[in-house]
Amino acid sequence: MTVDCIVVGQGISGTFLSWYLLNKNLSFVIIDNHHPLAPSRIAAGIINPVTGRRMVRVWMAEEVLSFAHRAYTELGRFLALDAITNANIIDFFPNPHQRQVFMERLAEGEEYLSAFPEQNQFNAYFNYELGCGEIKQVSIAHLETLLPAWRKKMLEKDSLIEEEFDFAMVMGNTDSVHYKNISARKLIFCDGLNSFANPLFRQLPFAPNKGEALLVEINELPGNYIYKKGFLLAPYIQPNIFWLGSNYQWEFSHDQPSSEFHDQATNHLSRWLKVPFTILDHKASVRPATLERRPFVGWHPWHQNIGILNGMGTKGCSLAPYFANQLVQNLTRNEKIDPMADITRFKKILSLNTG
Ligand SMILES: Cc1cc2nc3c(=O)[nH]c(=O)nc-3n(C[C@H](O)[C@H](O)[C@H](O)COP(=O)(O)OP(=O)(O)OC[C@H]3O[C@@H](n4cnc5c(N)ncnc54)[C@H](O)[C@@H]3O)c2cc1C
Repeated sequence: MTVDCIVVGQGISGTFLSWYLLNKNLSFVIIDNHHPLAPSRIAAGIINPVTGRRMVRVWMAEEVLSFAHRAYTELGRFLALDAITNANIIDFFPNPHQRQVFMERLAEGEEYLSAFPEQNQFNAYFNYELGCGEIKQVSIAHLETLLPAWRKKMLEKDSLIEEEFDFAMVMGNTDSVHYKNISARKLIFCDGLNSFANPLFRQLPFAPNKGEALLVEINELPGNYIYKKGFLLAPYIQPNIFWLGSNYQWEFSHDQPSSEFHDQATNHLSRWLKVPFTILDHKASVRPATLERRPFVGWHPWHQNIGILNGMGTKGCSLAPYFANQLVQNLTRNEKIDPMADITRFKKILSLNTG
């Protein structure tokens, strides 16, 4: 088989990369082992314009967020499903300091924040003594339907092989790369955590970050908002099901769900919610985060036909579509990859791999 690109991984990065390759009429094959605990299969899908305790705008908010919205809408239309919905965050202040930070950011004119005039609207559902604000222009990407639908489409077109990728089988020269019986112009790794073990890319400064989430059934809670008070409670695509998460662990001894998180999240929900709930599931995964919190995009400086789209960290749902498109535009039109994301910034470290 001869194709333009071999794509390793069909998480959110590999999905959008292959979508943009298809849009450019480039041929490709995806190789994916369908790991059930890949972060793309655990994520809530929240695309949030402000972040952190200081409620600052996310990196490149203007470009990335509107691009992501368009990207999910177009891919959803192609697959005949709703890939994204808008759902603002109701931010219940967990302490006086967080309330003050919100009010200060609002007074500074932060357009993604608004005072929520109906302060009593959620009294029947939640305990919130310090009031609430609203974070606007938030959306939820429905990865739980989008990724399987894209996978099904790719399997039907014989464009996806379900197997473990074995780096030892890669052979290449300056013009092409070969993997088993496949020859391609480019080989692009979108394999998340697995890139930590990739001999060409393992020198990149990854900083894996574990996160956990509970799936909770709450029959009496309206599903038209995301609710936040320390934890986020986000509506899932199935009615009455909510995703509760998450934590950010930089140090962890295993990647499995922990009883500590389960107890902490359940206790928190019992204090916060006034209506009954049932825990349905508990999941954990490790985010492919990076030390400087910027993604890894582009071509290996010493092996120009081998590329990477990775390091999406906590923001894969918004960053992956944007940088997948940049990588394809670079491939087809030689357009520049954002220097903050382009892996040529690690040219020196990556030279250590050339052996
Ligand atoms: C609890 C939690 C909540 C999160 N919530 C959000 C959120 O609300 N919003 C947001 O933007 N981000 C969120 N994230 C982060 C987001 O999940 C990641 O940024 C994103 O999923 C990374 O996607 P990826 O496609 O780059 O990697 P991955 O999701 O890791 O996908 C890699 C793919 O490659 C495949 N693969 C790996 N190795 C091999 C191999 N050797 N052979 C074949 N196939 C292979 C895997 O099966 C997988 O399909 C969350 C993460 C966690 C853990």
